[in-house]
Amino acid sequence: MGDDFDKNMRPKNYMEDVVFHHLDGILKHTDCCKCQRCRMDIAAYALNQLPSKYVVTRKGEVYSKLLELQQQFETDVIIAIIKAVEVVKKNPRHDEMQV
Ligand SMILES: [Zn+2]
Repeated sequence: MGDDFDKNMRPKNYMEDVVFHHLDGILKHTDCCKCQRCRMDIAAYALNQLPSKYVVTRKGEVYSKLLELQQQFETDVIIAIIKAVEVVKKNPRHDEMQV
């Protein structure tokens, strides 16, 4: 804890960025709930279906890697998100977080 001197270099799952890049664009075309809880559930469900792509990066390497993976996995990511939307839509969990 506290030793955050090199936050710029650590393993990062780029698939997360690719999923979030597409998430809102796809959600816009559905009647699924778009609250934060449902969006995160959709992202988590989609990510569980997709391969993790951990990369160690430094600043500046982010965008080229992201673009590369985006192109490589675009169709898979879109299909995974659409599937996730169907699941979350049928089973929204946004009420569970109410105290
Ligand atoms: Zn919701």
